[in-house]
Amino acid sequence: MNSNHDYWDPAMEGLGRAELEALQLMRLQRTLGQALKSPFYAARLKQHGFSGPMERLEDFRRLPFTTKQDLRDSYPYGFLCVPRDQLVRLHVSSGTTGQATAIFYSRKDLDSWSDLMARCMYMTGARAGDTFQNLTGYGLFTGGLGFHYGAERLGMLTIPSGPGNSKRQIQLMRDFSTNVLHIIPSYALRLMEVMSAAGIDPKQSLRLKIAFLGAEPYSEEVRNRVQQFYGIKVFNSYGLSEMNGPGVAFECVEQNGLHIWEDAYLVEVVDPHTLEPVADGTVGELVLTTLDREGMPLIRYRTKDLTRMLTGACGCGRVHRRLDRIRGRTDDMFIIKGVNIFPIQVEQVLMGIPEVGGNYRIVLTRADNVDQMKVQVEVTDRVFVEDMRQLQRLRRKIAKSLCDEILVTPEVELVEPYGLPRSEGKAVRLVDERAR
Ligand code: AMP
Ligand code: ZN
Repeated sequence: MNSNHDYWDPAMEGLGRAELEALQLMRLQRTLGQALKSPFYAARLKQHGFSGPMERLEDFRRLPFTTKQDLRDSYPYGFLCVPRDQLVRLHVSSGTTGQATAIFYSRKDLDSWSDLMARCMYMTGARAGDTFQNLTGYGLFTGGLGFHYGAERLGMLTIPSGPGNSKRQIQLMRDFSTNVLHIIPSYALRLMEVMSAAGIDPKQSLRLKIAFLGAEPYSEEVRNRVQQFYGIKVFNSYGLSEMNGPGVAFECVEQNGLHIWEDAYLVEVVDPHTLEPVADGTVGELVLTTLDREGMPLIRYRTKDLTRMLTGACGCGRVHRRLDRIRGRTDDMFIIKGVNIFPIQVEQVLMGIPEVGGNYRIVLTRADNVDQMKVQVEVTDRVFVEDMRQLQRLRRKIAKSLCDEILVTPEVELVEPYGLPRSEGKAVRLVDERAR
């Protein structure tokens, strides 16, 4: 065990690889025993011929996958593994389409989730006594309450400001010397514009030092923009309701991939078509098994999120493996003129162009049986007042840069600052009108 480090949870963060794997096997056994108490897994595991216990960790790869559709089909209580009166919280995710899914938490589940969140934030340098402003939605979205309880556990003065009302956010930051933020990337970009328009330079007039950005895909270019403007360090935060919410994987001070907490989650990356494991470094679908949940354990849950496992040791000393930035979900990918494209590739290009503002949208249409791709791009205030020729030049530059990356030349439409619709929660980057 590595005990020379400043860890929130030295017993878990300081484990060596062999100790970690022994713990995983022990927790996997316990999880399987627990899962069998739910109607869903009792039937599914039996049907699969599972008759525990498992001798080697690798054997869990023979267990069946669990999908979002399974959660929907068993809504609301099919996955429940404790009596209903031992539950203290539920979160419901409606998703963009389809029927809701419900996730249940016992008191112990909430407790270990809060600890995981405190561990994540502590790892980046957040400390008791800091002021933490939580600018994400509370309510059914797990990001709000997940961070809230973690921040309180860590001992930060926690401001549950929620999203929106940017003037008040800035006022709170000033009045209480906020230095740690949790904010979704699209709102961080928007708040930047609000501050710029009001002539506020956060590097001069605020005390910010750290921000946690997650809940939606974003590029390294967005991280750079946000870091530079606010004068802070940005750490990527990944999670999903089915696995508690945030706190599944998080960046350390190295800012080079997200440590996935392997004492709490068993991780696999598989080919989304064959469902066979892919080699480290190869992009595939992330599959997760909970190792420390009693209310609603999930086995080999297909997240639909695409990423790859990074190799090599991390400078921070933790052996918990690192995931690369999430590229998007398998269902975010769109195909146009035979090319597969993820919205994040478009974002990466746009956010590297200084004249481009903080918001964009991809619109797909079909005319005469031919697919058309349009990229609507908000420009900065400064560019907006420029003459037509310059705007035309900018339009061509954006189209050319996009074509270099995605191999398709989209129509580019420049939009005034704040001209595109915004959502309070996760940003909607793709509007596909082709099927209508
Ligand atoms: P929800 O459970 O509704 O909060 O949504 C969880 C989903 O949000 C994940 O499955 C990912 O698709 C996405 N997500 C969360 N965090 C990140 C992140 N840091 N980067 C990219 N996508 C993320
Ligand atoms: Zn690290």
